[in-house]
Amino acid sequence: MKTALIIGAGPAGLTAAFEFLKKGDVHPVVVEVPKAYPAYFGTYDKFDELKAWLDGIDNLFLIGRNGMHRYNNMDHSMLSAKEALNAIRSGSKDKSAIWRVNSEEDYHEGR
Ligand SMILES: Cc1cc2nc3c(=O)[nH]c(=O)nc-3n(C[C@H](O)[C@H](O)[C@H](O)COP(=O)(O)OP(=O)(O)OC[C@H]3O[C@@H](n4cnc5c(N)ncnc54)[C@H](O)[C@@H]3O)c2cc1C
Repeated sequence: MKTALIIGAGPAGLTAAFEFLKKGDVHPVVVEVPKAYPAYFGTYDKFDELKAWLDGIDNLFLIGRNGMHRYNNMDHSMLSAKEALNAIRSGSKDKSAIWRVNSEEDYHEGR
């Protein structure tokens, strides 16, 4: 059985863990990873470049507020986890459905 390492046990991480356990097809392990919180000092305007590079890592799925660096509410974060599960289960390397979650500008903080 595959193992999924989940960083962070907020709504996004717990949704992923719960859904894996419910189906029993992937073994979820919630881990603490030092310095996992993203910080883009002076480089926020290059976020798309960073996102494209990170999306190129096939088995890395950025979800939730921290992972996506996006002002998600709980529903958004849980939905991003579900989109990641869909990709993982279908073997897809396409992360675009995750990034489409909470892409409406209304929720985002102004800079
Ligand atoms: C005051 C307040 C009120 C809110 N009210 C609402 C509301 O009414 N409705 C609503 O939908 N949303 C509300 N939200 C937003 C909601 O809390 C977030 O949308 C939600 O928590 C995001 O879930 P997440 O899993 O993406 O991230 P988080 O909840 O931030 O979870 C991330 C988890 O990762 C852990 N973590 C961080 N770094 C590491 C590391 N290096 N290693 C391991 N673990 C790590 C953190 O401890 C945390 O548990 C509110 C937020 C605040 C602050």
